[in-house]
Amino acid sequence: MRIAFIGLGHMGAPMALNLVKAGHDVVGFDLVEAATVAAREAGVAAVDSAVEAVGDAEVVITMLPAGRHVIDAYGSADAPGLLAAAPPGTLFIDSSTIAVDDARAAHELARAAGHRALDAPVSGGVVGAEAGTLAFMVGGSDDDFAVAEPILAAMGRRIVHCGGAGLGQAAKVCNNLILGITMIGVSEAFVLGEHLGLPNQALFDVASNASGQCWALTTNCPVPGPVPTSPANRDYRPGFAAALMAKDLGLAAEAIASTGVDAEIGLLANAIYQRFADGGGAATDFSGIITEIRATSGQGAWT
Ligand code: NAD
Repeated sequence: MRIAFIGLGHMGAPMALNLVKAGHDVVGFDLVEAATVAAREAGVAAVDSAVEAVGDAEVVITMLPAGRHVIDAYGSADAPGLLAAAPPGTLFIDSSTIAVDDARAAHELARAAGHRALDAPVSGGVVGAEAGTLAFMVGGSDDDFAVAEPILAAMGRRIVHCGGAGLGQAAKVCNNLILGITMIGVSEAFVLGEHLGLPNQALFDVASNASGQCWALTTNCPVPGPVPTSPANRDYRPGFAAALMAKDLGLAAEAIASTGVDAEIGLLANAIYQRFADGGGAATDFSGIITEIRATSGQGAWT
């Protein structure tokens, strides 16, 4: 298919390249010239204007930093953008991680301009983008999903249709709410164990085979040793950077506020990760939160 790929950053460039490898006719664009040039060198035909990229497209995929970038790039009557430049009936797939409300607004804008739209955020990070093993969570109509699924399959391994407009973003935000909360819980448990004299390996051996079992423990274990591939074994090099966890929990907090859900622990997890990211932890893996919990735990009542 003729696909325009807008946003050739850490995620977008390797995703676009996987579409090229799958035989699609891909034209890329990024606002930053260096990203356009790098994508071109990697094998993606990249052009110097968004209008040129989408002019002949059947599908437009956006992979941009935040909701405002997506809404701005789609354009408005005052400042025409991608929607005005694309042929009528183009399928717009936004794979950026953005607020559910922004995703729904993007769907509305696309529909009003005579196009079709899906939100299709991903998990799996840069490693998954490069390997073509991303997980896609998709919101939109059955018909549009049917068109998108084989395209997304060139970039990912698991593609789940979650429901209507915005529900891909909803699934992403809810999953990462679980992940943020469980990582803090696992980290607090390890630090409490340390203060009680319990070896990390012993807690791991018990909890990983008991009701404490979860991904944060058994795959991304925040202490070095029990899971040799976890970021804790390489000084918390990401992995999944704490800045991205803070971003995603911020989106969860927005959704919590707009729905009025009583999600006390989720809001607390958001505050904890924002503080960690702002205090210098942004570029470390999100499991590095354990270092802050240790640092602020003092000597404890056990001394
Ligand atoms: P990035 O900052 O590396 O890339 C974004 C690119 O978009 C940049 O190159 C920027 O120049 C470009 N851009 C911004 N506005 C534009 C516009 N109007 N037109 C064209 N290009 C524009 O970010 P990334 O790490 O690739 O992440 C992209 C999205 O994917 C984010 O929403 C992020 O939350 C999400 N995500 C990232 C990861 C990850 O591990 N990096 C994992 C899952 C999801």
